[in-house]
Amino acid sequence: MRIVDIRERAVPISRYADSSLPSGGLTTSIVAVITDVMRGGKPVVGYGFSSIGRFAQSGLIRERFAPRLLAASASALANRDGTNIDPFRAWDLMMQGERPGGHGERCVAVGTLDMALWDAAAKIARVPLYHHLANVFDLPHRDDRTVPVYAGGGYYYPADDIARLEDEIHSFRDLGYTRVKIKIGGAPVTRDQNRIETAIGLLSAADHLAVDAMNSYDARTGVSVARALAPYGLWWFEDICDPLDFDTLLVIAAGYPGRLGAGEALFSAAEAKLLNRCGGLRRDKDVLQFDPVHCYGIPGYLQIIGHLEAHGWKRVAFWPHGGHLFCLHLAAALGLGGAESNPLNFQPFGGYGDNATIVAGRAPLPDEPGIGFEARASLHTLFRTLLHP
Ligand code: MG
Repeated sequence: MRIVDIRERAVPISRYADSSLPSGGLTTSIVAVITDVMRGGKPVVGYGFSSIGRFAQSGLIRERFAPRLLAASASALANRDGTNIDPFRAWDLMMQGERPGGHGERCVAVGTLDMALWDAAAKIARVPLYHHLANVFDLPHRDDRTVPVYAGGGYYYPADDIARLEDEIHSFRDLGYTRVKIKIGGAPVTRDQNRIETAIGLLSAADHLAVDAMNSYDARTGVSVARALAPYGLWWFEDICDPLDFDTLLVIAAGYPGRLGAGEALFSAAEAKLLNRCGGLRRDKDVLQFDPVHCYGIPGYLQIIGHLEAHGWKRVAFWPHGGHLFCLHLAAALGLGGAESNPLNFQPFGGYGDNATIVAGRAPLPDEPGIGFEARASLHTLFRTLLHP
């Protein structure tokens, strides 16, 4: 069982459903990992992408990590009984020769290929990824085939911000979402309070709204905004300050009575250890948003969960960033609190299968083998351009 080819391309990605709006020049890498396993006369292909919110990783994937996978012998990639690819062994091969530290964004490059390897492995096993993960980790299979989710979005619009925010939240509700996360931190607090009050007015309660400051506050503004937000009783307050500014997070955690969210822009177990030790987060309350793709993929994400569980965190505290199918499978298999969904923005990557209906804020698990990108026509079409340029 070998990987015979790996294709990669950088594609633009937009924070808005209307991709003509300026969106910070974000990109993502799409990859196809082509195996020598044949099904119906065609090779099994695993697809992956660099999650959302960062940038494409073309150089690292093409020059460093894909060549190591392509050079691997069949026996070096196989699981114990030789029936499938073992993504953990593939991960060890990708990381061969890498030096400790210097995580930078190489973790995103590795995580992108890791997603495609798991897609291929679950397809070879002929089961959806969440089911394959339960088999690999010997976890109990779920009776409940739905996962709690919330709709992420609510970016600032360059014009008609409040009216368009209202439209967006109406759309989330029409799609079946009951909880929503919107952005703050890019405007004076009074304008953000207007956004927050608008959103709360369209949801069943204030604790169905989370806000994401996109790491924008320093110590002084962070403390004063936390004070202004506290009376609302929001679901959570996320990404308050620079991801490594643990001093500011510590001060805010000591004074803010509500739930905080952190970890989205920390990409390694070493950084997660620092967050736990220095950030003042409260294990019985706060939310951890590490993005599995940005954290070196599933092997890296499991290192983070393992360390934090050993320090008293519960799995329900994990709500992975990303808003796409891959994290939905992980939330289901690993028993996490739930998952973000990006049903309108970051298309065609955000959200779930075309026929997946969200009911009362819960998403159904896909039936297709692998991650289920094939049930998302626009994304599958994009991935297939890697095979047929
Ligand atoms: Mg965030």
